[in-house]
Amino acid sequence: MKCKNCNATMEIDPSKQEAVCPYCGAKELICDSDAVAVEKIKSSTFKEMEYAHMENQRRQQDHIEKEKERLILMGLLANLLLHLYSPSL
Ligand SMILES: [Zn+2]
Repeated sequence: MKCKNCNATMEIDPSKQEAVCPYCGAKELICDSDAVAVEKIKSSTFKEMEYAHMENQRRQQDHIEKEKERLILMGLLANLLLHLYSPSL
């Protein structure tokens, strides 16, 4: 987004939904434009998404670990039963 006065790149304030030129101080109101959406995503949503993603990965890892433990336990149990019910082994 360029400033109409001096053609410098304007800084977008997502909370106020306006762009401010850092050189001449010109302000321009922007209503839900792509630029605002992008800035919003950059500032807050991205962090939340990243956090949620990490949390999700952690949960999946936990699940995998528990599943492994369960399989190992079941394997041991199966072995034990085999030994109990097959005296020849
Ligand atoms: Zn300007």
